[in-house]
Amino acid sequence: MISFALTDADAAILEEARAQADLASIYARDFEHDEDRLLPPSFPEAQGRPDTRAMLASLAPETSGSKIVHALLYLEDWRGGVPLRESRYSLGNTALRIAGTPEQYSRWRDRTIAIGLTEPAGGSDPASTRTTATWDVVSGEWVIEGEKTFITYAESCDAVLVLARLVHPERRGLSAFMVEKGTPGFTVGRQFRKMGIRFEDTAPLAFSGCRVPAFNHIDGDLKSMLRSFSESRPVVAAYALGVSRAALDFTWERLAEIGIAPDYDKGPSETCAAADRLMSLEAEWEATWVTVMQAKWIEQNEGPGKIESSMAKAMGGSLARRVTQTCIDVLGACGLSDVHPVEKAFRDARIFDIYEGTGEVQRLIIARDILGYSPKELN
Ligand SMILES: Cc1cc2nc3c(=O)[nH]c(=O)nc-3n(C[C@H](O)[C@H](O)[C@H](O)COP(=O)(O)OP(=O)(O)OC[C@H]3O[C@@H](n4cnc5c(N)ncnc54)[C@H](O)[C@@H]3O)c2cc1C
Repeated sequence: MISFALTDADAAILEEARAQADLASIYARDFEHDEDRLLPPSFPEAQGRPDTRAMLASLAPETSGSKIVHALLYLEDWRGGVPLRESRYSLGNTALRIAGTPEQYSRWRDRTIAIGLTEPAGGSDPASTRTTATWDVVSGEWVIEGEKTFITYAESCDAVLVLARLVHPERRGLSAFMVEKGTPGFTVGRQFRKMGIRFEDTAPLAFSGCRVPAFNHIDGDLKSMLRSFSESRPVVAAYALGVSRAALDFTWERLAEIGIAPDYDKGPSETCAAADRLMSLEAEWEATWVTVMQAKWIEQNEGPGKIESSMAKAMGGSLARRVTQTCIDVLGACGLSDVHPVEKAFRDARIFDIYEGTGEVQRLIIARDILGYSPKELN
């Protein structure tokens, strides 16, 4: 039987994560007008407090499983508006673990590895990739040429896993290459000015005559590498749950000041409209939480499930947009004030329906599975 009841160890780790998110929240707006600033490894309040990821590692056998609790830790980080301690995890790390050789994994496992898929010509369809990696038979190196855009951690990462089209006498198709910071011919552009998530650095990348050794070719199965999204998409949904939780909690607190509280025993006709709207969203929040738990439970027990992961991501992206919009409706002008958290949550929420595959793309993946179509038949 599947049970999503949290264990005592889960509860202890998450309680600490919640306390740390509250401490971090004082820094949540520090990056709003200072986007070029990078997140510090930790804020001063982290001193003397346990590292929740280390707690999870040491208590793992007593928890519901590290995959599940890991996602719930991200929920708490995002509830605080900014992480108290940087986790140094990026999607490129997952892709390297899945597709790299043991030697490649051990060389870069402790590095922050950004992922470079999106190009100015489009991000949803990897087949549109124009960046090339040309094999130089004389030097035994790959020469990368091209551009990537909107890359998370472009500035703060140690290396980028770059998707490129092979130019090789015997090989064709797309493949991934590890390009380390400082490699000649690899430059990071100016950070984008974004509507939200300003604490995450995002910038374009350029590769011009950028040579990497043969060892940096992550030559594993590309399809399985792209499956790293099946691990990360429910985590993005957990981010969305965190931002939604912060907005809902703040709005309930405001309503409590004028004597309005949720009462789940009353029907809509006996409930004030504002509370009724929030209670419906609370139900959707719970439903999304369950999809995240289910996706992570499946991943933990059977390996990542593509469809469950897309379902969690699609629900998370949609939930955060509707929750933050409704909270602003309910709060009125106070919802738009930049001294309160909802205005920031509203702007931060938009990304969950964009990166790691847009909401539309998730719904396509789900529809193909339900209707039995191939990507060629339904795109
Ligand atoms: C802040 C931020 C951080 C990011 N970080 C990264 C990163 O670290 N690495 C990286 O590689 N990329 C990153 N991205 C890029 C992101 O993954 C892409 O923006 C996303 O995949 C969509 O690609 P696109 O913007 O090129 O839009 P397009 O692919 O051009 O799509 C445009 C619109 O059309 C819709 N659409 C596309 N295809 C279909 C279809 N078949 N059916 C229906 N609708 C469709 C999309 O949903 C979207 O609404 C980031 C983006 C942002 C904004």
